[in-house]
Amino acid sequence: MSVTDLTPPAVFSGILGAERVIPGGPAASAWLRDFSWYSPVLENALADTTVDAVLRPESIDQLRACVAAAAGLRIPVTLRGAGTGNYGQSLPLQSGVVIDVRDVAGVLSVTEGRIAVLPGTVMKDAEAAARETGQELAVMPSTYRISTASGFVSGGSGGIGGAAHGDLWDDNVLAVELLTVEETPRTVRLEGDDVRPVLHTYGTIGVLTRIEFRLVPARDYTPVVVAFPDLPALAGFAHDLVSGDLHVRLCSVHEAAGAAMLTPITALYEPGEDVALLWADTAQLPALEAAATAAGGRTIAWTVKPHISQFPFSHSILWSRKAAPSSSWLQCEYASDRAEFLRQVAALREAYPGVFLQHIEVITSAGRTRPMGITPLVGLPDHERALEELITFCRALGMTVLNPHSYVVEEGGFVGDTAQVVALKTTSDPYGLLNPGKLGDSFFTSRGLTPPSARAASR
Ligand SMILES: Cc1cc2nc3c(=O)[nH]c(=O)nc-3n(C[C@H](O)[C@H](O)[C@H](O)COP(=O)(O)OP(=O)(O)OC[C@H]3O[C@@H](n4cnc5c(N)ncnc54)[C@H](O)[C@@H]3O)c2cc1C
Repeated sequence: MSVTDLTPPAVFSGILGAERVIPGGPAASAWLRDFSWYSPVLENALADTTVDAVLRPESIDQLRACVAAAAGLRIPVTLRGAGTGNYGQSLPLQSGVVIDVRDVAGVLSVTEGRIAVLPGTVMKDAEAAARETGQELAVMPSTYRISTASGFVSGGSGGIGGAAHGDLWDDNVLAVELLTVEETPRTVRLEGDDVRPVLHTYGTIGVLTRIEFRLVPARDYTPVVVAFPDLPALAGFAHDLVSGDLHVRLCSVHEAAGAAMLTPITALYEPGEDVALLWADTAQLPALEAAATAAGGRTIAWTVKPHISQFPFSHSILWSRKAAPSSSWLQCEYASDRAEFLRQVAALREAYPGVFLQHIEVITSAGRTRPMGITPLVGLPDHERALEELITFCRALGMTVLNPHSYVVEEGGFVGDTAQVVALKTTSDPYGLLNPGKLGDSFFTSRGLTPPSARAASR
């Protein structure tokens, strides 16, 4: 084979056929976009991302062959599902190949409490297969209509179902299988707590080939809006609802200024009303309505066409960026304790009126009620001093800030213990080829190497 034959497109065409290898350049540009433009910081940082080739395997065997070849060539490998990540997870920092797994899809089995799927399976298809057996996914992202199983596990955190069943870290991913990135890739199966290193680590640990999600008995759901004249009352109601006995799959709280930006559904409520978007157990609607009325709210039927999943979680940022193109965002976790949570809601409203537009997804996790903020920031002067001041303010209130302006796993704040992550990566990706640069310093320092940040600082 000549030297030119060793270019990635030539090598991978031999495996997949030329039509399943997209060479770098304009034809590959669609694979170099995701939703990191939510952050002006990431939009700038990732603007000149390039790729040598995009690979589109159709089977696990083809995926394995691509991984083996990339390992032999020692070129970076970045996996990609539907590209709906918010932090540039699927955008390669060091070129190499992007492997699009969407055609390696299909439901493998559905048993009681468990569904096994191939990596590129669209979450909506997994949910449909579960429903055929009288079950539903315990949790799925609000992008479930397009995002993939492996993309959700590697790039997401939680979503619809979270109000009852928590997030990815609440035993909702029962097992995974991954390929190691070596000349002869091995298949590694992880179960129980051992799956943690692959959760939200941006495909840096292994190439997922099988994912097993937790299922729960299916319910019939109805979308409803509950509107309140003031935010503290709504926040208290939402906290009580998720902590209580009524079942909702979604409890998405939006203060009035943010609710006004959800343009396809604003006709449902009055300007100035603070709203919760609930996906509620249909059988419990009368009890829900009574609870809302008792707390000072009013229940509104969902008479609009768009699906409720188009508004919660980071969908709110899609709408706020549309309404206020120069706006930005922040993620933060409020206190679990009801009184403390309400104190934080009030303090933020007083300190940042019209700027920090409170959007709170209330979830239940590890037996606690956890209000998670996905906050549009409108009119924040800059992403340096002003953002730092805001973050300092949130932390002083006792909140945890999850930084959406970084593509580095550790800086995002979702992954606590990176020791377990690094330990697995050392054997699953011995050449450090998977999505290089996304796992921060820990992978390098643990091996006695100079971390990227130190190298950048010395330059
Ligand atoms: C409007 C909007 C709403 C959103 N709502 C939610 C939400 O409710 N909950 C939530 O958690 N997230 C949400 N997100 C973020 C995103 O949609 C989810 O993380 C989604 O599940 C990612 O799936 P994907 O197929 O698009 O993955 P991609 O974005 O393509 O990839 C995500 C990560 O997975 C890695 N990856 C993909 N396949 C593999 C594989 N086979 N092996 C190893 N690594 C792999 C990629 O390298 C990348 O790091 C939202 C985003 C937007 C834009």
